[in-house]
This record gives sequence, C-alpha cells and structure tokens, in this order.
Amino acid sequence: MQQDFYKDLLDNLYDGVYFVDSSRTITYWNKGAERISGFQPPEVVGRACADNLLMHVDDDGTQLCVNRCPLAKTLEDGETREAEVYLHHKGGHRVPVNIRITPMRDESGRITGAVEIFTDKSSRREMLHELNELKQMAMIDPLTGLGNRRAAAMDFERKIKALRNFHVPFGLLFVDLDAFKTINDTFGHEIGDQVLVMVAKTLVGALRGVDKVYRWGGEEFLALVPGVDAAKFRIIAERMRRLVEASALPLSGDMLRVTVSVGGCLALESDTLETALKRADDMMYRSKNAGRNCTSLDCS
Ligand code: GH3
Ligand code: MG
Ligand code: MG
Repeated sequence: MQQDFYKDLLDNLYDGVYFVDSSRTITYWNKGAERISGFQPPEVVGRACADNLLMHVDDDGTQLCVNRCPLAKTLEDGETREAEVYLHHKGGHRVPVNIRITPMRDESGRITGAVEIFTDKSSRREMLHELNELKQMAMIDPLTGLGNRRAAAMDFERKIKALRNFHVPFGLLFVDLDAFKTINDTFGHEIGDQVLVMVAKTLVGALRGVDKVYRWGGEEFLALVPGVDAAKFRIIAERMRRLVEASALPLSGDMLRVTVSVGGCLALESDTLETALKRADDMMYRSKNAGRNCTSLDCS
C-alpha cells in the first residue's frame, strides 16, 4: 500500500528518477526517466548503467561511465553529488541534464545502492515557460501592468459563455478619464502616464477579488464584474468613481487630482463584445454629458 503510494509519487514526478543496486544494476526507472531518455523500463531495468546505456558525457564530450562515473563514486564514498552532464537519448541525440545522486543505505548504514535524479535542462519546460511569458507579454499593458484589450476580449468570451451556459450574470464598466488631454497639456505626457498608473491602481483596489479591470486603450479602462445584480453593480461602479475622485498624485508641493466618467451595463445572453461595449460606452457618454465625474448604468 505504502509502496504503491511511493511508486505513484515517483512516477508522477516531472524529473527522471532511477535506482541502482551496489553493482550499479538498474532496479527502478520512473516515467520521467522514460520521457527524458526515451528508454522504457524493460529496456533498462536489470542492466548495469556501466553497460554504457546512458553513456553520460560532460561538457567536453568526455565519457564518464568508465573512470569518472559519479554514481560509482557515490557508491564508494557515500557522498551526495550533483553534476551537469549530457545523457544519451534512445533516439541517439544528447540531452543536457542536471543530475543529483544520493546513496541508499540499510539499517546498519551500509551502502546498498544509489538514486539518481535527473532534470531535463534542454527544456521543453523552459520553452513552455518562455512561451507562457510571451503570451503574458502580449496580453499585458506595459504602463499599468493591467491586462490589455486582447486580455479583456478573452475574459469577455469566458464570461459570456458562463452567462449562457450557467446563467452567471456579469457587468461591464467603461471608465474614461475626464479632461485628460488638459492634464497632458498642462503637466506633460510623463505626468499623464503617472496619473494613468495611479488610476489603474485605484480601480484595482476598488474592485473585488473576482472582478477584473483592463486597460482598454489610451485613457480608457474596462472592468468585468461577475455575479452582480443591479444594486451590487451600482455600488461597485460608484466605488470606482469615488475612489478615483479621492486619489491624488503628489506633485512638487501640490496634489494632482483627476476624475472619471463611468458607464456600464449588465451583459445579455445575446450580447457580443461589440454590442455590450456599445451600451456601456453610450452610458459613459451619458455621464460625460451630465457634467462628468458620474456613473450611468443600463441594467435593463
Ligand atoms: P473627456 O473628458 O471628454 O474624456 O476629455 P479627454 O481630454 O479625456 O478626452 P480626449 O479623448 O480628447 O483626450 C484623451 C487624451 O488621452 C488624449 C491623449 O493624448 C491622451 N492619452 C492617450 N493615451 C495616453 C497615454 O498612454 N499616456 C498619456 N500621457 N496620455 C495619453
Ligand atoms: Mg477617451
Ligand atoms: Mg477622456
């Protein structure tokens, strides 16, 4: 029972793991080892790693198996070892790996074998990681760190599906800075940028953990707030507006303040991003026409 548990655990590790006995005969070979090396357990278990099966080489291409096998050394001296080597893949190519070798001992402390753990450096994993980062970069607005328009569109698609399939309501809030051109003209573009960052942070703080705010473009933000009725929606929208009104950028002895006009609507099952945005945008213009620094919602 406990053994099954450990076997499952080892098989589910991303790293390669194998055991050798004191004569360097391989007694166990996990799934990670199979994935990294291409060798399946029946091809390696029962064979000696000194059979030049994995044929570890170092950076210079020097074979380590015969005289400089780190496994053999650990079996001799009981020391834990780490090294960067290249192993031989069944397909013939070399795979860069980090290896860690630990001795196994019986109750009396006698060395009975060793475990080698190896990690693929070549890096499908690193590549996947980089891909993920690139994806992230393509969806993040560099100035504010918020998701950009593309991220907002993807989130809208997820939420409209949840509305149609599971009747989870959500609202869109369109937020536009008031008279921002004047701020740029008066204080310069850089201060303008700082104001945008301040507003972005304030909006994030005004929202609940489940809500998301994106930089839609220029001085416009879009928030998606799930699971709200009209009353809750209004509270959140007004909190955003008021907290922006209450924030200020310290500016050589003075405080620079800014306000936003907010427009919002609750999404309908028949909505596309365009139709929902149009209603929110129309509401935002209603707020502008009403004198700015106010909130208008379409909760029909
Ligand atoms: P309104 O109250 O009607 O919205 O007036 P407004 O001045 O905010 O509107 P308008 O659309 O005329 O101006 C928006 C300004 O936002 C113009 C543009 O230079 C500025 N802007 C857009 N993106 C950025 C940015 O990334 N940084 C800075 N500093 N300014 C930006
Ligand atoms: Mg605008
Ligand atoms: Mg504006």
